[in-house]
This record gives sequence, structure tokens and C-alpha cells, in this order.
Amino acid sequence: MEPHAPLQFLNMTAHTDGFGPLNSTLHAEGVSMAALADAVGTPAYVYSAGTLRARYRTYEEAFAGLDCLIAYAVKANAGLAILKILAAEGAGADTVSEGEIRRALAAGIAPDRIIFSGMGKTDAELAFALSFPGLQINVESRPEFERLSALAAAQGVRPLVVFRVNPDVAAGGHDKISTGRSDNKFGIPVDEALDLYRQAQAAGLVQAVGLGCHIGSQIRETTPFRAAWGALREMTLKLRAEGRTVERIDLGGGLGVDYGDGDTGARPADLAVVAAEVFGDLGVKLAVEPGRSIVADAGVLLSRVIHINPRRAGPTFLVVDAGMNDLLRPTLYEAWHEIEPVAPRAGNLTAYDVVGPVCETGDTFARGRILTPMIAGDLVAFRGAGAYGASMASEYNSRLPAPEVLVDGNRWAVVRPRPNYGAVMAREQVPDWI
Ligand SMILES: *Cc1c(COP(=O)(O)O)cnc(C)c1O
Repeated sequence: MEPHAPLQFLNMTAHTDGFGPLNSTLHAEGVSMAALADAVGTPAYVYSAGTLRARYRTYEEAFAGLDCLIAYAVKANAGLAILKILAAEGAGADTVSEGEIRRALAAGIAPDRIIFSGMGKTDAELAFALSFPGLQINVESRPEFERLSALAAAQGVRPLVVFRVNPDVAAGGHDKISTGRSDNKFGIPVDEALDLYRQAQAAGLVQAVGLGCHIGSQIRETTPFRAAWGALREMTLKLRAEGRTVERIDLGGGLGVDYGDGDTGARPADLAVVAAEVFGDLGVKLAVEPGRSIVADAGVLLSRVIHINPRRAGPTFLVVDAGMNDLLRPTLYEAWHEIEPVAPRAGNLTAYDVVGPVCETGDTFARGRILTPMIAGDLVAFRGAGAYGASMASEYNSRLPAPEVLVDGNRWAVVRPRPNYGAVMAREQVPDWI
């Protein structure tokens, strides 16, 4: 990764990633964003391979002293090129659908490094997962356990099963990304999980090997992790005291990133310290499932200003060619993304309401954002868009999906081209009786 000078204008946080100015225009590693925009058009996702590797290695180094699988949460960004880079680094995968399992396998991740999570797995998906020995299935409810047991018996296999516990811990940056409270749909309450575990080991249809949790996302301190993991520790001790075996603990993911609220949040190393404190003496095999904290900083959404629409009162509208269909997070979670002019102009700082072209008031990226002066045709980069950006995109308003570009040093490649309208419409069929 090329080193970049700290950013020098207002509204910018200090970045430690592969995006930064060279000769006053934003680059992704050694490649000019303006040149990329000319080559592939906008909007476009641009990823930094160097940043992706660096973020993964932060986990690898942090957990090096523990027996821990780093299972990248594929839903954060399921691109095959992203998965291939992480696979080459030695990552496993945390998956939540058959499609994600297939992607992880296609990227070369071995089944015994794949975890199948998710609270509504279908019979077909479970049967698919059962065809891969060594793949760990995280069971999230009693009905799922019963279906899995029956399917496993029918297929004549005994899958590795970890029970996802709901430890009733509040955590996460937003209501819609908190998953570890008792009123969320995720996980099994502690008492019931203990009962299920006993039942599973007694019946022997599956190999009940451990306990897990995943309490939410964009968590920036260690306290909720410590609380949730403490509950798993107590459960482990209890089960072992009854003579049962507990070999695996799944720590979940959820570590937050700096979206502009300050670079002071907990880091993988802090998580590893807590994991060692809570589980170090238990001789268990750990897994951690980071998504956002590996891939968020490794991507930006590059967009061009369509026009500028001044208002009688309030900030000027900056209408950009990216919309909520490309980057849903601001609409869905009121998420804040730093918006960085690619080639900042001299002049007075100006407040803008940054909006997309989609026919929804919710298609608003930022209100009253202070930027260097912008004119039509200028480029902006939405920072921290590598996670839950492209993976949540849709074609709403019949907008073409944004292409995705991977940069590695001075090289770049389109890893997902923008389809043309013909190709998009060719996926549909109109019956001849209408
Ligand atoms: C989404 C998810 C993760 C990853 O969460 P991040 O906040 O992206 O780190 C990990 N485990 C499970 C079960 C998930 O559903």
C-alpha cells in the first residue's frame, strides 16, 4: 500500500487506509480516482486490496496467541475478488445462506473453515451444508435444531454444531443492528440453549461441539463482548461440570469502525485481550467472525455531481449520481459516511444536502455537510463503503448496478462490470399470454 499524506482539509478524519490524496487528487493506492471514473463511469465501488489485507492481518496478529479461526463474515461484502484475497490470507468464512457458502467455496475456502450461521436456514440450505464434512453449522433455535437433526439422520451424517446463544446484552450502533437482546430474533436464550445442548449430546444425531454468540454490529467498546462471552464461559463450565464436552466457542463479529465519530474505538487487539481473559484457561477452539471491521475501510463509492440546486432556505442540494440503491446504509440506519471531494476546489466551505436521484425522500446521504465548493461534474468519494455497500445494493428505479473495481498498488481491474440494460432485461420473461 502506498503511504498517503494526512488529509489536509476540513471535514476529514485521519485515515490509515489506502485512499488519500496524491498531487491534490484522491487516489486509491497508486491509482487516480478521476482516471478510474473516466474509465468505468460513475457511480462505482473502488476497493483497496492493500487495505483489505492490512485489516485482515490486524486480526491475525491480534489473535495469533489463541487457537482462533478468523471467519470473515461474507455478507459484509461477498465479492469473489474480495473473498479470494482473504482466502489467500488464510481467512475462513462466516456465511448466512447457500449462496454465501457457494461463494466462499468458489474463492477456495475449505469447508472446515466455513461456518453456516443465520436464523432462518431452509431445509434445502441445511441439506446443502450437510454435504460438506467439517463445515460448522451454528444453530439458532430449537425448531432449526429439530429440522437439522432429522435431515442429518436422513443423509447419514453427523454435522458439527455450535448453538448460538442470545445472552441478552444490548450492543450495537443502531437498533436495527443490535442482535443480542432478548427481544431480537437471533439466538437461543441461555436456559433453553443449555437444555438443547444436553439433549443434542444425549441424542447424538449431531456433534454438539460448542457455543457461540453474535451480539450486534458497529460495537465500539469491549464491555458488551465481555458480558456476552462471560455468559458463554459460565455455560461452558456448567456443561463441563455435568460431564459434557464443549470444544468450540464462537465469539461472533460486530467490532465497529470509524465512520467519522473518532478513531478511538476498540480494536481487534482489544477483543483478543478480552477473549484471552475469558477463555484462555478453557482449552477451547475459538472463532471470530468480523465483517465490517475487515472490509469497511477498504472500499469507497465514487460518484459524480449531476447538478447543484440552490434553495431559498437551507443548504444547497448537491445531487450526485449515486443513490440509495447503491449505498443503502444512510437510508436504512441513518449511517454517516464521510464525503470527500476527489479534487477539492479552493473557495469558501459550503453546506450541502447531499442527495441521490432516486424518487424517495430517504435517498439522502447527508444534510448540511460542509464541503469545499462543488460544481456539476465534480467527483466525490463516500468513505467507509466497503462493508454493507455493494452487498446491499439493489436496482431500484431500474438503475444499473454500480461496477466494482479492485486496486492493488498501481494495478486495477473491474471485478464486477456494470451490466447493460439489455442484459438486465434479458433476465426476465414475459409470458406469451399477456
Ligand atoms: C453479520 C454477522 C457478523 C459480522 O458482523 P460485522 O458487524 O460485520 O462484523 C458475524 N456473525 C454473524 C452471525 C453475523 O450475522
